[in-house]
Amino acid sequence: MASLSQLSADARADVVVIGAGYTGLSTALHAACAGRDVVVLEAAQLGEGGSGLNGGQVIAGLKHDPDVLASLYGEEVGAQLAACSGSAPDLVFDLIGRYAIECDAVRTGWLQLAVSERHLASLERRAAQWRSRGADAAVLSDREAAQLTGTARYRGGWIDRRGGTVQPLAYLLGLARAAMASGARLFVRSPVSRLSRHGDEWRVETPRSSVTARTVVVATDAYTGKPFDALRRTVVAVPSIQVATAPLPQELRASVLPAGQSVSDTQGILRYFRLDASGRLVLGTRGSYGDIPIPTDTRAHERAVRELYPQLAGLPLEYRWGGFVAMTPDGIPHLHEPEPGLLAGLGYNGRGVAMATAMGRLLARRALGEPHASLGFPVTPVRPIRLHALSRLAARATIRYLQARDALERSLRRPPSGAPA
Ligand SMILES: Cc1cc2nc3c(=O)[nH]c(=O)nc-3n(C[C@H](O)[C@H](O)[C@H](O)COP(=O)(O)OP(=O)(O)OC[C@H]3O[C@@H](n4cnc5c(N)ncnc54)[C@H](O)[C@@H]3O)c2cc1C
Repeated sequence: MASLSQLSADARADVVVIGAGYTGLSTALHAACAGRDVVVLEAAQLGEGGSGLNGGQVIAGLKHDPDVLASLYGEEVGAQLAACSGSAPDLVFDLIGRYAIECDAVRTGWLQLAVSERHLASLERRAAQWRSRGADAAVLSDREAAQLTGTARYRGGWIDRRGGTVQPLAYLLGLARAAMASGARLFVRSPVSRLSRHGDEWRVETPRSSVTARTVVVATDAYTGKPFDALRRTVVAVPSIQVATAPLPQELRASVLPAGQSVSDTQGILRYFRLDASGRLVLGTRGSYGDIPIPTDTRAHERAVRELYPQLAGLPLEYRWGGFVAMTPDGIPHLHEPEPGLLAGLGYNGRGVAMATAMGRLLARRALGEPHASLGFPVTPVRPIRLHALSRLAARATIRYLQARDALERSLRRPPSGAPA
């Protein structure tokens, strides 16, 4: 991609998007395609937020099952949340196809695998609920899970064929190219430091210049900072760390995730992994809690690789990196419009590859003037978490507790009988 520049002169636009991750770029792409003049302002370089650092799992749905969404939010909103999140992978793979985005896209499904019989029962209910809503999904026995993954550690689970994998940074760069080809102007190293309202317009300031527009979309997710303090306090930014092994030797590739699915498991501190296009095992799990997700300690990852794939013993970890995931107290992402013409979408709880792309399209539709009622997604008030600073400590304590519980459960667990090693 040609090098991008800083915003260095004052500008006008119809829509200013703050943050160039999947949310911001999908907003920009959809608004620009509808003929709006769009400026995107990114504080860093492309890919330094979650969208460039994630596990590349394209997952349908939210943390809550469709029935739970209906019981928590009522039939109508619950159905909206399920439908929007359930179809989000369609949008991702459609954009990849339409704009010929080269990002190693594979759509052979997403596996969610159980570490215990109790977890398997809840995954079976999840699969049934999605199947009853038309999803291409199936329950997997322990043997089927072992065949698809090459590890005998799991009790079974389910396959959701709506999902798949992408190379996350390549997908992000493809969205950026598509947005720019559609007319959006994209500036990097342009952190927004202030937002002010003047009549029915907004002035969006960066250190060197400003942009004036009627509509502003804040798309900063876990990286939301001080200029948007109330929004920042609606989410807790939790670190997640990934590692990539050296490419697997050819003779082992056929036995590790041979059909290219990605996997998440049901540990308290979940593990997620896939094989990338060069044959590296890419595995993530939550990092230790800190202000910066620096992967200094990857012992949990090394242990996970050892336990899941003993055949990879001796294969070095060649890359380590991390980023922040935005968690919301209610486990669902939010679309906000705190003031007329000021929109925000964030809080994907580790499922933003598909859902942030879908959120961007929703934000664009709203920026184009579509009323709340026809969006098919709830627009909620900004509700900062009370004692937000303490919630970070609580998150850290929860992570420690879950790590200890997982370790205890692992020590009690035996591979399922009859599953191939
Ligand atoms: C390690 C890791 C693994 C993950 N794995 C998966 C996965 O496998 N599947 C999945 O679905 N999800 C996963 N996620 C979550 C997913 O990556 C995010 O939900 C998604 O990328 C959010 O996209 P976004 O565009 O909203 O935010 P981001 O991609 O984080 O973009 C926000 C951008 O806003 C910019 N910004 C912040 N403040 C300002 C400002 N003041 N001015 C201008 N710009 C600003 C930031 O620099 C950043 O580039 C993972 C996340 C991490 C960190």
